[in-house]
Amino acid sequence: MKVGVVGAGIVGLAVAREVTRAWGATVTVLDKEDHVAAHQTGHNSGVVHAGIYYRPGSLKARLCRQGVALLREYCAEHRLPYEEVGKLVVASTLAERAELRRIAERARANEVPGIAELDALALREIEPHAVGVAAVHSPHTAIADFPAVARRLAEDIAEAGGSVLLSHPVRALRETAGGVEVLAGPGRFTFDRLVVCAGLGTDTVARMAGVPGEVRIVPFRGEYYALAGPARDLVRGLIYPVPDPRYPFLGVHLTRRIDGEVLVGPNAVMALAPEGYSWGDVDLAGLRRVLAWEGTRRLAARHWRTGVREVFGSAFKRSFLAAARRYVPALTAADLVRTRGGVRAQAVARDGSMVDDFAVDVQGRVVLVRNAPSPAATSSLAIARHIVEITSTLTS
Ligand SMILES: Cc1cc2nc3c(=O)[nH]c(=O)nc-3n(C[C@H](O)[C@H](O)[C@H](O)COP(=O)(O)OP(=O)(O)OC[C@H]3O[C@@H](n4cnc5c(N)ncnc54)[C@H](O)[C@@H]3O)c2cc1C
Repeated sequence: MKVGVVGAGIVGLAVAREVTRAWGATVTVLDKEDHVAAHQTGHNSGVVHAGIYYRPGSLKARLCRQGVALLREYCAEHRLPYEEVGKLVVASTLAERAELRRIAERARANEVPGIAELDALALREIEPHAVGVAAVHSPHTAIADFPAVARRLAEDIAEAGGSVLLSHPVRALRETAGGVEVLAGPGRFTFDRLVVCAGLGTDTVARMAGVPGEVRIVPFRGEYYALAGPARDLVRGLIYPVPDPRYPFLGVHLTRRIDGEVLVGPNAVMALAPEGYSWGDVDLAGLRRVLAWEGTRRLAARHWRTGVREVFGSAFKRSFLAAARRYVPALTAADLVRTRGGVRAQAVARDGSMVDDFAVDVQGRVVLVRNAPSPAATSSLAIARHIVEITSTLTS
């Protein structure tokens, strides 16, 4: 069997490896960029989420827990960095305490190991420079190098006889009686099955496949600052706020990375292009399409206040600093240096709600990953198994 995968991010590569293992398929991964992990996989916080926040029973909750176990094992097997630095979710007001309690309950329902509820004093034993009225501690939350994992997955695929074809943008595809025909880069391919894991490019490929669906990807840029020099010592592991339950984003946090850098971010501003890494990246046609989607207009009508606040935060370093100082008051403006950000591919439904769970559609021979936001990097190996499971019956 010949299987094509669109997208050499961590999800596409994990799926490609899994279909080779499970079906003995010959796999070809197609990506438009000249290196793997060029988009979300290479521009994120690098956190291996333990599964704290997600609705028990959801795909996110289940595949995150499974994904952590698979990723830890994979990193150990291939000697890739994986460090359990631990995470604090910090309530800084009494009002946030109730939500913190709910988070602790969810974490236990999701069987996240080692969850502890800490008071103001106990949280400082974990993070001596942090302040708050209470915290939830997740000691096994980890950090990893997702681009390195992606590169290793690409090697696995090549070793199993598959190919990862870079600089191969998918330009057209159609399903025929005998398979799926794909035009990508200079080549024409025919596959028995095609799995689309195109992240920010999902809608474009879905349109090519004739399955636009009931959700659209809205790009949300996440901007970061990095802590300069000695300020890095103010943070041992991961310090997160209590998230606003209305949004799938976790709020500006402090994150130690595997390379020793400490990030402050990300915020969430709507990007003006699918790959809009800065305010200067504007794709008018893409933007028109996003704004024409009634889901985007309803989303904007519902959340414009937060949107304005996030744009303000994007423009002014001091508002970013204020968010960080709420948890680590010793930080000063001189400690924060702007660094590169990422763009999230977030599915938005027609009614204006942000799709919270992972979502996969199967249409004939085409499998489309519709929504794979955070924690999809953490969950990638489990998402791959899930896709193989739900499509195996169709394949046999
Ligand atoms: C700011 C930020 C912080 C995050 N933090 C975390 C975190 O700490 N932990 C975590 O688990 N997750 C995190 N995430 C989420 C995580 O990065 C993503 O869920 C994950 O990387 C998705 O992987 P992917 O393979 O689906 O997408 P991507 O990595 O975006 O890959 C999609 C690929 O498809 C290719 N493509 C698109 N269109 C085409 C086309 N027409 N032809 C060929 N190729 C195409 C692109 O070039 C790209 O390489 C974060 C994301 C962001 C943006």
